[in-house]
Amino acid sequence: MDSVQVVCPHCLTPNRVPAGRLGEGPKCGKCGAALLEAAPVALDEASFDAFVARTELPVLVDYWAPWCAPCRAMAPAFEQAAGELRQSVRFAKVNTEQAQGIAARAGIRAIPTMVLYRAGKELARTSGAMDTGMLRRWLGEHVS
Ligand SMILES: [Zn+2]
Repeated sequence: MDSVQVVCPHCLTPNRVPAGRLGEGPKCGKCGAALLEAAPVALDEASFDAFVARTELPVLVDYWAPWCAPCRAMAPAFEQAAGELRQSVRFAKVNTEQAQGIAARAGIRAIPTMVLYRAGKELARTSGAMDTGMLRRWLGEHVS
């Protein structure tokens, strides 16, 4: 793989990045934002398809809700894993209370549920809160 398409988390412009330069803090050619920022990207109805379908790195989406205590408890672990793995996996969050259409389309019945996508296709999913080590191991099983 010579280059990888990643979508800017701020302006949703797809950017091509040479695979060898993912570790060099690539910036969006349009708006200058960091393409691989450490924090999970909050996706909504307007941005979900543009981000998930056009990102060639695997995208792990955490389906959560503000009232869900296990979701809130898992958030720091999810953020830590997002920072550690930023060059190989994009981390995103969908608030299922706001983006009910996306949650319905993904068939989300329990939260937290995490769905791993690549180029818009589902690779794997898991439900229930995980710590950082569990997240790392689960991703290792599904991302080569
Ligand atoms: Zn941008």
